[in-house]
Amino acid sequence: MEKRDPWYADGLKFACRQCGGCCGGAPGFVWVTNEEIKAMAKEMGLTVAAFEAAFVRLIRPGKKSLNEREDGDCVLLNEQTRRCVLYESRPTQCRTWPFWDQNLTSEKRWKNVAKSCPGCDRPDGRLYSLEEIEKQKNERF
Ligand code: SF4
Ligand code: SF4
Repeated sequence: MEKRDPWYADGLKFACRQCGGCCGGAPGFVWVTNEEIKAMAKEMGLTVAAFEAAFVRLIRPGKKSLNEREDGDCVLLNEQTRRCVLYESRPTQCRTWPFWDQNLTSEKRWKNVAKSCPGCDRPDGRLYSLEEIEKQKNERF
C-alpha cells in the first residue's frame, strides 16, 4: 500500500522566541547522554565530574537528566534573561523541540503545542521542510 504524506508534508514554520517557556513549568526531565554532558562541561569550562555534581541527576541506570529548580525551571535557564546558558551544546531533547513525535501526531496536536510555544507557526519563522522535520522527529533522547 502506498504511504500517505504526513499532514505537515509542506513543511512547518518555526522560530524560537527564546521565551524560556519550554525550559520550565511542570516537573519533568531533560535527558542527557554522557556525550552531551561532555560537550556541555567543555562549553562551561568544567570537568565532567564537576558538571555532573552541579547540574545532573541519575534517574535510573543509564538515564540522566539535568537538574531543575524548585519552580520547575531547568538548572541551565538563566533566571533573568530566560535563555539557556549552554544553548550551543544543549541536549538533543532541547535541540529537536518542537519537532517531537508526540507533537506531530496531528495538526490539532501541533496547534495545541503552538499555544504554549510562540515559536511554532510564527509567520516570520523559518520554513522547515518535511525532510528536516522527519530527521528531528526521528532523533531519540
Ligand atoms: S517555548 Fe518555544 S519560543 Fe519559547 S523558548 Fe521554547 S521553543 Fe522557544
Ligand atoms: S538545557 Fe537549555 S534549552 Fe534545554 S531545557 Fe535547559 S535551559 Fe532549556
